[in-house]
Amino acid sequence: MRSYFILSAFILAAFVIAASNTVSFSAKTDITQMVFMPDSAATCPVTGDAITDEHVGFRYIDKDIKFCNDGCIMAYKKDPSKYSEVLKCMPCNDDDGKAKINATHKGVKYYFCGEGCKGKFEAKPEAYLEKFMK
Ligand SMILES: [Zn+2]
Ligand SMILES: [Zn+2]
Repeated sequence: MRSYFILSAFILAAFVIAASNTVSFSAKTDITQMVFMPDSAATCPVTGDAITDEHVGFRYIDKDIKFCNDGCIMAYKKDPSKYSEVLKCMPCNDDDGKAKINATHKGVKYYFCGEGCKGKFEAKPEAYLEKFMK
């Protein structure tokens, strides 16, 4: 119950931040600003918002991902399959992970193609994660 309240507070904070960003952005919008708009390809996978200069990063397996804020990172860590089209199975080094076959290590969820790969990861998670940090 307690963690539910904390999560709710985070979500609320994220909305408030998102709302205030929208207001300040639209107030400043003019032609010169439009030219320097951030690359539309860089969007937060959680909210879909464009990433501005102010952002936070998190590396998931072999990808450095940009997010609007820590609330988005928390949401991503809990269930990356919601926000990613492909799920990497680390032991295979292939994008054949399945959402249903997963393991959580240090609060981050990872996916596998099958129970065999899941077992390999769980036996030495740090070794696999280190391999993909490079
Ligand atoms: Zn976000
Ligand atoms: Zn596999």
